[in-house]
Amino acid sequence: MSMRISKTKFCAGVQCLKRLYLLVHEPELAAELDAASEAIMAQGREVGLLARQMFPGGVEVRNDGGLDEAIRTTRELVANTDVPAIFEGTFEHGGVLVRVDALQRQGKRWKLVEVKSTTDLKDHHLEDVAIQYRVLSCSGLKIASACLAHINRDYVHPGGKIDPREFFRVRNVTWRVQQLQPKLTSQLRSEFRVLAQPTAPNIRTGSHCTDPVVCEFFDHCIPPRPDDHIGYLPRIHASVVEAFEEMGVESIWDIPADFDLTEIQRRAVTCVRTDEPWFDHVGLRVKLATLRYPVAYLDFETVNPAIPRFACTHPYQHITFQWSAHIQQRPDAEPEHYEFLATDARDPRHEFISSLCTALGQTGSIVVYSSFESKRLSELDSWLPEFADRINAIQARLFDLLPIVRGHVYHAAFAGSYSLKSVLPALVPGMSYDGMEVTDGQDAGLAWEKLIRGKLDQTETKKITKALLGYCGLDTLALVKLLTELRKYAG
Ligand code: SF4
Repeated sequence: MSMRISKTKFCAGVQCLKRLYLLVHEPELAAELDAASEAIMAQGREVGLLARQMFPGGVEVRNDGGLDEAIRTTRELVANTDVPAIFEGTFEHGGVLVRVDALQRQGKRWKLVEVKSTTDLKDHHLEDVAIQYRVLSCSGLKIASACLAHINRDYVHPGGKIDPREFFRVRNVTWRVQQLQPKLTSQLRSEFRVLAQPTAPNIRTGSHCTDPVVCEFFDHCIPPRPDDHIGYLPRIHASVVEAFEEMGVESIWDIPADFDLTEIQRRAVTCVRTDEPWFDHVGLRVKLATLRYPVAYLDFETVNPAIPRFACTHPYQHITFQWSAHIQQRPDAEPEHYEFLATDARDPRHEFISSLCTALGQTGSIVVYSSFESKRLSELDSWLPEFADRINAIQARLFDLLPIVRGHVYHAAFAGSYSLKSVLPALVPGMSYDGMEVTDGQDAGLAWEKLIRGKLDQTETKKITKALLGYCGLDTLALVKLLTELRKYAG
């Protein structure tokens, strides 16, 4: 049987031979790309296009005519000494097919560059470059150097046009990928052997299914688990799950009494077995007694683009574009709602913080869920020093409910997670995000990107604005309800 393993498939195979097999023989079992994965891919393409600016005069090999045509075109471009660089050059050797992000001509030799959207070099990137190095060398190209270009984490956008030579760190990994070649030879041998088998190899699931990326066959290999599955213990490490599986233990009910669990995990086991939630009433009472009215309930939405948009921001820096606050004057008072949403492509930070300072006033506790808001406030503090005093004062009033829930409450329906999305339906039945257009922070970021691009008609603009305001507003209303519920258990 003749087979082609593409570069991506080969890299997948490095982590899991079953994944490789499924990608080649049963790709229809892969999960469909969701909007978030598509956005990540689009971002990767944007980063790739920026990297191309480092190679002026480069010519792209398109893929629309099929891979054989792409291979032919690449050969012609390699032979044409007027072409200084080739993007997506396509090569095949020994049944392995690769497309190379950038190839730069250096006399009679070539510089191979693989572009990544990460801010550092990871081991699996080297395997990626190593296979390209191998196929190109075997195809007769003389490789002067093999490099990996990743985003420079220290880059600060000076405003204006981004200089790709500053934005990327280009690392010469020639020696390291040469060292990987013997390992690659045996790797390829076992990959082709597995691919020739009639069925997928029986590989156990484990941390390799989610690290470095969530495998597209995750749902196929790991069908939905019953509610009492050991994987639903809080902060359970994949290696502990594996240890349980080796003992033949899949249910929380079957965990041996002397098995070494953390206090929180032991608590979760008791909740599942007794079907009773656990509340540390005294601890809750002590913590909640420190709240001061008026109490504000606060939530931010952000985007963190790989390529920074605004001056003085880093790659992947969070940009706050929306806030919602419900403010309650007394424990039983109806909360008043305040909100802000940036609706165009201008830098929203100044307006964001200025409106927030006004809405929050100067007294009372500010309830949040996690340290996310505090971190964003610290960033705003360093960008906008004129607000430093007011931001510091807001931070001093923050009251984080997450560690309080984590330390004093457990409900089997949390299923091991203390995220608001897990805690809320368990403690405040009837409160849910079902049926909403925007259902999580990632959705909110994607919706906002659409909104500010300015290409929507009025109806669509209104619809997205309403969805964003509805989602963020529900997040802070959820905090109001959650605190009300916790007060009941505090007694
Ligand atoms: S889910 Fe895990 S075991 Fe299944 S194919 Fe993917 S990496 Fe392999």
